[in-house]
Amino acid sequence: MDVINPATEERIATLTEDNAQTLQEKWQRLKMAQPAWQARALADRITVVKRFSELLEAHSDTLAQILTSEVGKPLTQSANEIRGAIARISWLTANAAKYLGDELMNETADMEERIVYEPLGVIANISAWNYPYLVGVNVFVPALLAGNAVLYKPSEYASLTGLEIERLWKEAGLNADLFQTAIGPGSVGAAILDMPFDGYYFTGSYKTGHFIYNKVAAKMVPCQCELGGKDPLYVADDVTDVAAVAAATADGAFYNNGQSCCSVERIYVHENKYDAYVDAFVKELRSWKTGAPTEEGVYFGPLTRKDQIQLLEDQISDAVQKGAQVRTGGKKADGRGYYFQPTVLTHVTGDMRVMREESFGPVIGIMKVKDDAAAIAQMKDTEYGLTAAVYSSNPERATAILQQVDAGTGYWNCCDRVSAALPWSGRKHSGFGATLSHSGLRAFTRPKAYHLKKP
Ligand code: NAD
Repeated sequence: MDVINPATEERIATLTEDNAQTLQEKWQRLKMAQPAWQARALADRITVVKRFSELLEAHSDTLAQILTSEVGKPLTQSANEIRGAIARISWLTANAAKYLGDELMNETADMEERIVYEPLGVIANISAWNYPYLVGVNVFVPALLAGNAVLYKPSEYASLTGLEIERLWKEAGLNADLFQTAIGPGSVGAAILDMPFDGYYFTGSYKTGHFIYNKVAAKMVPCQCELGGKDPLYVADDVTDVAAVAAATADGAFYNNGQSCCSVERIYVHENKYDAYVDAFVKELRSWKTGAPTEEGVYFGPLTRKDQIQLLEDQISDAVQKGAQVRTGGKKADGRGYYFQPTVLTHVTGDMRVMREESFGPVIGIMKVKDDAAAIAQMKDTEYGLTAAVYSSNPERATAILQQVDAGTGYWNCCDRVSAALPWSGRKHSGFGATLSHSGLRAFTRPKAYHLKKP
């Protein structure tokens, strides 16, 4: 399998893909190694995970360069991602004993009732490329902390990073059999679905998640799907600093070239603030530099996948045909590499593809709405349910709106944000189950109930 640098379109590596036989061998090794890992004290498992985190930190410059070379993310954003992963690991290790330790629920003179959180066994993690460290850590760190063995299938667009992660686990002292990488495209992911894993944890698109959930259902094992989004954001008319709101929300829409599951994908602005907001938004966007992701100060690098260019152009042309205006950008940038012009569309309507389908790129539609009720109606009009955001100076007004939107996360005066302490979970086509927080730590366990009658 060739690894292509999206900034130069050059081949930077050729990897050997896994096949049915190598996957089977890996599964056997995982299965053999897991019971001893489960038997280790939680404190020992925490020590190994902390060592992994220290290695991430020690090698962060090189790891960031490797990530940038295969996904095209600006170097500063790759470094931010690794720092973010280290912060998440720190929360997970600090809270592992609290949420994975045995729980005494009831105790009377003759009876003790206790919950023990047992690992599932050997789990498969089929992962995405847009934040391989962050979405990877969300799964394999709590899974290992809980005593599972992990087959990690990085995206075919982030395989070099996947191999680095595997190498660092070994260097951290984890038994080499407990964490293994499966290299290859979707067909390798599909082969994993034919194997007897004890749980399937998927991060990726709705289309693949739908396929995976159907395949895994017959196995009667846990399956979690963290999928895409079409995340709405509303700017109410009581915001005081429109320019600051425009700058913050533009970053929420365009960070990582809009290739975040929780990127802002649709913006609704109260008519009293609309013109000022759009002007400030476009001005902010134009102040950000596009260029080689290794260049200093670059905010927009190339997209990761070539295919995405066509999808964005199709969404824009559908919108324009239906009456949208291109305020800035609108097409692929000239020259080599998968660069796309950051694009703002106005005069958008709810029936346009760009306001309904996940764009996963540097394209945003901004719609004028006459009041909160109109904003709520638009925000709710989606098959997805990952996040929703409201900017307003009034917390009651914001929370009253957020309560009405069926999404796993609500943001007031912020957006495109993840916290290790809070559950990360989608609804509807954005998936189900949760990573991070106490829910995410326990997502890789089965509770066993002990009823212990004293003599
Ligand atoms: P994708 O669905 O194309 O691929 C994800 C993974 O699934 C890859 O490893 C791929 O090889 C594998 N795969 C593809 N076809 C398969 C099949 N038939 N059977 C088994 N595995 C298969 O998604 P992507 O392009 O890697 O990621 C982008 C998507 O992920 C976006 O929709 C984004 O919103 C979503 N995402 C969601 C979250 C979240 O936390 N909710 C986080 C990051 C990304």
